[in-house]
Amino acid sequence: MAIIGIDLGTTNSAVAYLKEGRPEIIENRDGDRTTPSAVGIGFNNEIIIGTNAKNSLISMPDRTIIEVKRKMGTEEKITLAGQQFRPEEVSALILKELKWYAEQKLGEAVTEAVITVPAYFTDTQRKATQKAGELAGLIVERIINEPTAAAIAYGMENMDKEQHLLVYDLGGGTFDVSVVEMFEGILEVKASAGNNQLGGMDFDNALTEWLTEKVKKVHQIDLLNTGNPSADLQNRWRLKLEMERVKKLLSNQMSTTISLPFIAMKDGVPFSINEEITREEFEKLILSMAESTLVEVDKALADAKLSLSQIDEVLLVGGSTRIPLIQQLITKKFNKAPRKDLNPDEAVALGATIQGGIKSGEISSVNGLMVTDVSPHSLGMEVVEMIGGQMVPGFFDVIIPRNSTIPITKSKLYYTVNDNQTEVDVGIFQGESPKVKDNLLLGQFELSGIPAGAQGKEAIELTIRYDINGTLQIDAQIQSTGKKISQIIDQQLGVMSQAEVAVAKERIHANWDQSELYKDVKPAIQRAEKMLPELNELNRNKIEGLLQQLKGALSTNDKVKVQKLDEELTDLLIELV
Ligand code: AMP
Repeated sequence: MAIIGIDLGTTNSAVAYLKEGRPEIIENRDGDRTTPSAVGIGFNNEIIIGTNAKNSLISMPDRTIIEVKRKMGTEEKITLAGQQFRPEEVSALILKELKWYAEQKLGEAVTEAVITVPAYFTDTQRKATQKAGELAGLIVERIINEPTAAAIAYGMENMDKEQHLLVYDLGGGTFDVSVVEMFEGILEVKASAGNNQLGGMDFDNALTEWLTEKVKKVHQIDLLNTGNPSADLQNRWRLKLEMERVKKLLSNQMSTTISLPFIAMKDGVPFSINEEITREEFEKLILSMAESTLVEVDKALADAKLSLSQIDEVLLVGGSTRIPLIQQLITKKFNKAPRKDLNPDEAVALGATIQGGIKSGEISSVNGLMVTDVSPHSLGMEVVEMIGGQMVPGFFDVIIPRNSTIPITKSKLYYTVNDNQTEVDVGIFQGESPKVKDNLLLGQFELSGIPAGAQGKEAIELTIRYDINGTLQIDAQIQSTGKKISQIIDQQLGVMSQAEVAVAKERIHANWDQSELYKDVKPAIQRAEKMLPELNELNRNKIEGLLQQLKGALSTNDKVKVQKLDEELTDLLIELV
C-alpha cells in the first residue's frame, strides 16, 4: 500500500504520492496543489477545510481557525463554534482531508504517511504531530524534518553531486536552517538551527500592527478594540488577510494599496482605509526579523563546523523566501545567489514521499538515497551544583548534545549528593539553557532503593536513547545493586494522552449515522455490509475502504464527499452483483 508524504504547514499543506518511483503532488478538490491549513465548522456543523475555510474567516470568525501549527505541543484550546478543540484535533482534520485527496487519486484507502515537521520542533511538538496523524486515521511511518525533506527532493535530482547544501526554510510560521552534506547518494544532515516562532504570519502581524497604530494616531480609531469583541475578531481576520495579500504583492512590485472598505465607524459614518505602502516600508518593518534568521544560519554552520564559503548551494524553501529582502540578505551573506529551481511550496511534501518510498522499499536504498538526520536540541538531566558551599538545584547537564546524529544512545554517571540518600528524582529536559527552568521538561520519575552511604559513594548511570522515530527511552541504573528503571517518554504536557486520543477519535470519526446525509446513503451502506462476507479478499478490501471513507465523510457532514463516495460504492456494488 502507498505511503503518502504530507507537508503539514502553518499556512498551507501539501500531499504527494509515489508514481512509478517518482513523487508527485496530489491536487485538492479545487485542483490546487497546496491547501490552506484552515479549518471551519459550518452552520450545519459540517467541517470545512482549505480555501473555503480561509474564505470563511471573515464571515464566520468564531467558527474558523488558521495557523494552528503554532499551538502544537501546547495545552491551548481552540474554540470553534462554541466547541473546544486541542491543536492536535484541528491538525487531524486537515490531515484527514489530505488523506482523502490521496484516496481519491489512488482509488484505495490510504493509511500510511510520512509527515514533516520543522527541524527545530521540540520533542513535544513532534509527538503532538504524531498524535494528530493517529487521530486522522493514519499510521505515521515517520516524522521527518522539513528542510531534510526538501534536501531529499533536491538530492533525488542530483544524486551524482558531492556538495554541502544549506537549506533555508522560511514558511508561514517557522524558520529552519539545515546544513546537509551530500555524497554518493548519502544525505547527511550535519546541523539544524531555527526559530519555531518566526514566519510569514509574523510579517503579516507586523504590517497589521503598523497599520493599526497609524490609524489610531491619525484617525483616533482603534480597529482591534472597538468595544465589540466580535467586530474586533472580524477586523483582526480582515486585517490579517489583507496584509498577507499586500505582502505577497510587494514581492513583485515596489508599492501597492491597502484596501479595507468600511472597516469601522467614525462619527456615525463608515470609515474605509486606502493606504499606500511601499516595499521599502514593508522591508523596514521586517528587517530585524529577517536579519535574525542569519544568526541561526551562523549557528548551524558553526555546529556543522563549516564556513560560509564551504557551502556549495543554498536551497530556498517555504513561501516566505519569495520576499526579495530575504533573497538579498542571503545573496549578500553567501556572496552567491540561492538556487531557485526547487518549488518552495512543494519540495517538502515531495521529499516526504521519497522518504516514504525508501521506507516501503519502492525506492531502493542500494542505488538510491540514504538519509541521516540530527536531533536539533540538547537532551539532558536536572542536576544539583555546589555554589559557594551550598547545593543549588535546577541546573541542566547535557547528555546528548544538540545536532547529534540520530539514532543515538549516550550514558553518563551521576553520584549521590547527600549522605544516606536513598532516592533520586530523574528529570529529563530538552534545550540549551544551563537552567532547567528555561528548558522543556520531557519526563520525570523517581529512582529509589539506593543503598544508604556517604555522599558521592553511590553512582547512578543515566542512559538516553533517541531513535529516528523520535522515541525517547531513559534508563536509570544504580551501579552497586544493578536496579534499573526504564521509561519511554511519551506522556508530556502539551501532547494528548492515549485516553484523550480515544475520545477525540470518537468525535472525529463517530456519529456518522447521526448525519442528516445518512438517510441518502443508508441503502448502499447496508447492502455493502451485507455483501462483505461473500466477497473475495480484494473486493472486500475495496468495499471496506470505501465504507470507511464514506463514514468519515458522514461524520464531518461533507455533502460533496458523501455524494461522490456513495456513487462509487453503488457502482462497485452493481459491478459485483
Ligand atoms: P508555507 O508554509 O511554506 O506555505 O509558507 C507560506 C507563507 O509564505 C505564508 O506566510 C505566505 O504569506 C508566504 N508567501 C507565499 N507567497 C509569498 C510571496 N510571493 N511573497 C511573500 N510571502 C509569500
